[in-house]
Amino acid sequence: MKIVLQNLTKKFPGRSKKSPGEVIAVNDFTFEIPDGKLIGLLGPSGCGKSTALNLICGLQKPTSGKIFFGEDDVTDLPPEYRGVGLVFQNYALYPHLTVLKNITFPLENLRGADRLSKEEMEKKALEAAKLVQLEGLMDRRPSELSGGQQQRVAIARALVKTPRVLLLDEPLSNLDARLRLQTREEIRRIQRQTGVTTIFVTHDQEEAMSISDMIVVMKEGVVQQIGKPQEVYDEPVNLFVARFLGTPPINIFRGRVSGSRLCIGEESVLPLQNIPDQEVTVGIRPEGFLLQKDGPLTCRLTRVEVMGRDVSVVSTHPCSENVSIRSIINAETKVDPDAQNVCFALKPHKLYLFHPRTGERIPFTAG
Ligand code: ADP
Ligand code: MG
Repeated sequence: MKIVLQNLTKKFPGRSKKSPGEVIAVNDFTFEIPDGKLIGLLGPSGCGKSTALNLICGLQKPTSGKIFFGEDDVTDLPPEYRGVGLVFQNYALYPHLTVLKNITFPLENLRGADRLSKEEMEKKALEAAKLVQLEGLMDRRPSELSGGQQQRVAIARALVKTPRVLLLDEPLSNLDARLRLQTREEIRRIQRQTGVTTIFVTHDQEEAMSISDMIVVMKEGVVQQIGKPQEVYDEPVNLFVARFLGTPPINIFRGRVSGSRLCIGEESVLPLQNIPDQEVTVGIRPEGFLLQKDGPLTCRLTRVEVMGRDVSVVSTHPCSENVSIRSIINAETKVDPDAQNVCFALKPHKLYLFHPRTGERIPFTAG
C-alpha cells in the first residue's frame, strides 16, 4: 500500500529556558512512498527520522499536515487501527515469555470478530517465524538467543498481524558488524517475500544505500533529496548530500572558476563550459582521481594503502578541506610509495561544484 505525506510537520516546544526556540523535527514533508517498496529514511542523529516514523505509525500527532495510507486519510486514526508493524533498535521483547508467546502477543489483544483461537494464533506465529527462519527456536526465551535472533523475533512479532506497513527504526544498531550485514540481507529478503511497504530508518548511509529501493535524505527536519540510492550518489543536489553518502567520503576543495577553467590553488584542473567566473566548493569522489604522471592536480603523498582489489592513495593539498585526500586507484596502477608528490587527472562525472555559501550544486558542462 502506498503512503502519502502531505505537508507533514511536527514541532516540539523548546526544552529549557536556555533553548526556548521550538524544534521543527519534521518540516513540511510532502512525498509519496510507492506500494511494496523499501524506503530508507537517512540522516544524521537528531534530524527527525524517528519523529517521522512515529507520525506515520500514529504514536505522535502532527502539528500540521496529513498522512494517507492508500486513499485513506489516517492522520487522526489511533495507531492500533493503522495496521502498522513496528521494530525498534532495542528489540523490546518480553524477557519472561518464549519466542512463541512473544510473537503471538499482538494477536492476544484482538477483540470481537477479529479474536483468534489459540490454534489460529500459533499457526500465524509459526508462519511469521518461518519468514524470519526462527521456527526451530519457538520455546526459547529471549535471553537464550543471540542479538540477531532477538531482532528477528521482533520482526516476526511486527509481521504476525500482516501489517499494511512495516516501520523499522534503526533495527540493526545493536548488532555487531557481521550480524548487521546478515540481518540487513534478511530484512531485504523478508520485505521482498511479503511485499509489505517498508520504511527503514538509519543514520548509516551504507546500510540505507544497500537495502533501499529509494532513499530519502534528511537534514534538520528537512528532506534534501529523494531517489534511487545510485542516483542520489551520482547526482547529489547539494554539498550535504554529497558528503553524507559514500565511503570513503567525497573529497572537498576550495576552488575557483576562471576563464572556463576550474582552478584548485594555482593549478587549472579541468576545462569547463557554460559557467561564469566564481568561487566554488569542489567535491571529488575517491574514484574520481586518475593517477597520471603529468596530471594537473599535484598532491603531497602521505601513504599508499593496498586493500586487495583497490589501492587507496592518501595525500594532502593546501586547498583541501579534509585533513587528507583519499583516492581509490585500480590495483594494477603502480604507485611509488616513496614519491613526494602524486599527480592526478580528474574524471568530470565524479566531480561536483557547489556554491561556497549555500552548498547548492552548480551545474556545468565539462569541455
Ligand atoms: P532522529 O531519530 O533522526 O535521531 P528524532 O526524531 O529523535 O531524530 O529527533 C528530532 C529532533 O526533535 C531532535 O532535535 C530532538 O531533540 C527533538 N525531539 C524529539 N522528540 C522530542 C520530544 N518528545 N520533545 C521535544 N523535542 C523532541
Ligand atoms: Mg531516532
